[in-house]
Formats: sequence, C-alpha cells, structure tokens
Amino acid sequence: MSSAAFVDENQFSGLINYCFPLSKISWLKVGGPVDVLFRPRTLDDLSRFLPLVPVEVNIMPIGACSNLLVRDGGLPGVAIKLGGRFAEIEFKDNLVKLGAGNFSSKVAVNLSELGYDLSFLRTIPGTIGGAIAMNAGCYGNYMGDYVQSIEGFDKSGKFTRVSRENIQFEYRSSFLPKNFIITSAVLKPKRGKKRVIQQRMKEMLSKREETQPIKKATCGSTFKNPDGKASLISETSIELKAWNLIDRAGLRGKKIGRAMVSKKHPNFMINLGGATAEEIESLGEYVRKSVYKKFKVSLDWEVIRVGRK
Ligand SMILES: Cc1cc2nc3c(=O)[nH]c(=O)nc-3n(C[C@H](O)[C@H](O)[C@H](O)COP(=O)(O)OP(=O)(O)OC[C@H]3O[C@@H](n4cnc5c(N)ncnc54)[C@H](O)[C@@H]3O)c2cc1C
Repeated sequence: MSSAAFVDENQFSGLINYCFPLSKISWLKVGGPVDVLFRPRTLDDLSRFLPLVPVEVNIMPIGACSNLLVRDGGLPGVAIKLGGRFAEIEFKDNLVKLGAGNFSSKVAVNLSELGYDLSFLRTIPGTIGGAIAMNAGCYGNYMGDYVQSIEGFDKSGKFTRVSRENIQFEYRSSFLPKNFIITSAVLKPKRGKKRVIQQRMKEMLSKREETQPIKKATCGSTFKNPDGKASLISETSIELKAWNLIDRAGLRGKKIGRAMVSKKHPNFMINLGGATAEEIESLGEYVRKSVYKKFKVSLDWEVIRVGRK
C-alpha cells in the first residue's frame, strides 16, 4: 500500500505514521515496518478512521507487542495502537471498566489501592486489549475468568458490545469477532485486603525475577504448554511443560545468530542484541523440530508471528 494513504491525517487527534518500524516498540526489538500505524486518541477517531480503510487492506490491533514476533519484511496494512483516552479505569458497583490501552501491570497496582484483586496482571507485560485477546494468565488466573463484556469496533467501524457468553476463552487465546478492536472491557475482580494483594504482587514479581529473564528483550513463553499430549510421551511422569521438554532436548542456551534460548528459562527466547526476526523464528522452529524428534510432541507457538518474511 502506498503512503499516498486513504486519509487526511489532520482530521484525527491521534497520530498516523507511515512505514513505522515495529522493532521500535516490540518487546523483542525486531521486526520490519508496518505500512501505516494509527494511534487513535478517542473513540471518535477510530469510528471515523475505520470506514476509510479500503476493504482489501489488512487491519491489526496491537498493544505493547509483548507477544508479537513481527517478521523482518514488516506488517502489511494498518496497525492500530490505542493511545490517549483508552486508559480509563471506572468503577461501578463491584465491576470495573478498563480502557483497552491501559497497561495490565498498572491496572493491577491501581486496583489494589481500592482492594480489588487483579494481582496476577502485575507481572504480565502489555495492555488490557492484548491480555483479553490472548486470555493472558499466570499463577492459576486467566483474564477470561474476570471479563464480563468487551466493547469495540469491527473493521467497518461498527461499534459493538460483546458479552462474555459470546467470547470463547481458551488457553492463551480468545475467539473474538473477526478483526475486532477491543476499546474497553468490564471486569469483575475479586475483593481483598490492599495489604494482602500488594504482598502477593510483590511475591509474584520476585518469583518472576528469580525464574525468568524478564529484563531481556523477549516475548515471554515462546510455546504453549502441550497439555493433553501426555500419551505421546513415554515418560508420563514428567511435567508436560514446554520449558521442561526444551530443557530435556538439551537446548538451554542454544543460539542462532543473535537469538538465544534463555539459560534461565528455556521456553523464553532472547534477542541478545541485533538479532533478526528470522533468527528468532528459525531458532523457534529448530526447538520445535528437536523437541518433536526426541519426544514426538509438537509444540505450538504462543508468540504470534506476523508479517512478511
Ligand atoms: C517477560 C514477559 C513475560 C510474559 N509473561 C506472560 C504470562 O505470564 N502470561 C501470559 O499470558 N503472557 C505472558 N507474556 C506475553 C504477553 O505479555 C501477553 O500475551 C500480553 O497480554 C500481550 O499484550 P500486548 O498488549 O503486548 O499484546 P500484543 O503483543 O501487542 O498483541 C497480542 C495479540 O493481542 C491482539 N490485541 C492487542 N490489542 C488488542 C485490542 N485492543 N483489541 C483486539 N486485539 C488486540 C493482537 O492483535 C495480537 O493478536 C509475557 C511476555 C513477556 C515479554
């Protein structure tokens, strides 16, 4: 798509960038440019922008790109990253409405002040929109358990509310309407004592720090844990965790170019600095092949790979 574009940038309060390098914002620090990056500030921005996008042009909502591996050739079409006013936090009865652009960890901290417990979000990078789309979770909690409804736009710019019965949350995914851009969600958090919630978050943070390379350029867990495939493994007593299989395949510390399987947590891949998306993806595929060869278990990518090679 040429940067000749289909819109007049001046009619929006949000920002439009052409050929924007996603490596600048992705957690893995890799990835080519997206043709158009639109950062709407308001609902009105989005509702006026979307109908102007030609039907053949791909639209993808992005959050903090903490679960995305954008390939080196870049992302065709339009990426939509919510900014500005999409960070509301509003309480009503025991429910909370969250703008989808809020950072998940910030939500956990803010809610804890008022005795609302979404402590598991404290250690998950990214935004509320991304956490819902991925049904993000840790330490036995999943986003889908808390979501009551979501609101947002379809590709044509139609604004809709979807109730939880119509969202199928699964392990690390949720079946949203096609191309749906979540702008906000209503959640029902548990209640608890501020002190207890904050202590829990502190413990989760130290546990993470101890066991995962969270300060490196990474996307967290590369592969889903292959539960349900236990019968394929001869030693059924081992825990069916992706990290365990990768470790037992001898891949801790394996490198391709500047991409490495973390020594601290073998289900994390790290950009050592200057890695290409291709190196990271090749390393992932090498891991999948090696684990399959040894255990006959096929690992599924948790990290979402997008874009042109
Ligand atoms: C160090 C580290 C630790 C991690 N630990 C965990 C963990 O414990 N548990 C876990 O589940 N994940 C974990 N992750 C992965 C990641 O943080 C989560 O999946 C996160 O919720 C993604 O949010 P995001 O805003 O970055 O989404 P992105 O990575 O930008 O996008 C992910 C998906 O969400 C979609 N999406 C984003 N915003 C919207 C929106 N507004 N509307 C519709 N769809 C949208 C995108 O299209 C894409 O399909 C970890 C990542 C890192 C780097």
